[in-house]
Amino acid sequence: MDSRKQEKCAHPSCSCMAGNNSKYCSPYCEAAKNTTEIACGCEHSGCAGTAK
Ligand SMILES: [Zn+2]
Ligand SMILES: [Zn+2]
Repeated sequence: MDSRKQEKCAHPSCSCMAGNNSKYCSPYCEAAKNTTEIACGCEHSGCAGTAK
């Protein structure tokens, strides 16, 4: 078990895990932080916002 708490991407609609030195999983999410989006467009597989 991983006892360390992994931080989720700060994008409200994103379900990815953030990078080690970032609050976001991708530059997309960082750029979208001031935008209220229903879906996340980071295109990471498994992200709640991706509909592919
Ligand atoms: Zn995402
Ligand atoms: Zn994200």
